[in-house]
Amino acid sequence: MRVGIPRTLSFFTLYPLLKPFFDGLGVEVVVSPASNKALLDEGVKDTVNDACVPIKLFHGHVVALKDKVDVLFMPRIISLDGKNTLCPKFLGLPDMVKYSVSNLPEIIETRLDMKKGKMEIYRFLYRVGKRFTDNKVKILRAIWHARYKFSRYRKLLLKGLTPEEAFTCLHTGQEPPHKEQSGQIKLAVLGYPYTIYDDYISVGLLDMLREQGVRVYTAEMVPEEAMKRMSKKLPKNLFWYYSNRVVWGSQYYINEQNIDGIIHVTAFSCGPDSMTNKLVELEAKQHQPKIPFLTITVDEHTGEAGVATRVEAFVDLIKRKKGII
Ligand code: SF4
Repeated sequence: MRVGIPRTLSFFTLYPLLKPFFDGLGVEVVVSPASNKALLDEGVKDTVNDACVPIKLFHGHVVALKDKVDVLFMPRIISLDGKNTLCPKFLGLPDMVKYSVSNLPEIIETRLDMKKGKMEIYRFLYRVGKRFTDNKVKILRAIWHARYKFSRYRKLLLKGLTPEEAFTCLHTGQEPPHKEQSGQIKLAVLGYPYTIYDDYISVGLLDMLREQGVRVYTAEMVPEEAMKRMSKKLPKNLFWYYSNRVVWGSQYYINEQNIDGIIHVTAFSCGPDSMTNKLVELEAKQHQPKIPFLTITVDEHTGEAGVATRVEAFVDLIKRKKGII
């Protein structure tokens, strides 16, 4: 039995839980290739016009997998933290894909709603496991193994590893590389993990910044206690899980980490980002001294040259302000 997992959207959050879980069940996991132009073009053909680029890309990943696997894993994720929901496009993802892409294999669209309590993640895995085996002990062992790997993954991200680097460490059992960052300025690069860490969508932004002598910090590097502290600062939080993490991450870096600037990577036609972007910008501008702020909006036409020019100008401006150049 081969189960297909698209390499985008919740992949960057849940894959380190799902891979060891399916391994424990003896189910082969097939992941779609890294995002590229052909996948996006395929997704654009199949998706409704006004969808955001990550959703279009998701459809491309599904097309890349559909003839190579027996089932596609596409859970209906309602909440990941028990408080906030995911954006409506996430909620309707299995339906959107079923009605847009033809000749699909069976889809596992098990619901995950952490508002049902902390144990829901285990009940979710158990329900998924029952699709593959009736052996309860095997499922419980696989859940235990997955839980251990997942908590290690979270720790690796806090050390500054990217998801891909952390996957490699988990997979090979290697010790994480020493990630002491060097660079003269510190920038927070905030956005959803599926835009920031997908090198095709973000046109390699993180590497681009590091090559310019920038120490890069993301929302995934913020400790969970700090996220909770920041969530209590606003009179009201947003509804959406990933958007809140961007806002809380910006507050942490602005107010507690003496950051030199913020880059917000936002997807064109993302509804939640229209509010998230404004909130982060206001937070940066209200701080004394003001924190330089840049928005990079990505869509299917985003080119590396355009982003590189804006990012270089932004970094130079901050270096000049600090008297480095
Ligand atoms: S949060 Fe925005 S970018 Fe992410 S799936 Fe929803 S609409 Fe798209």
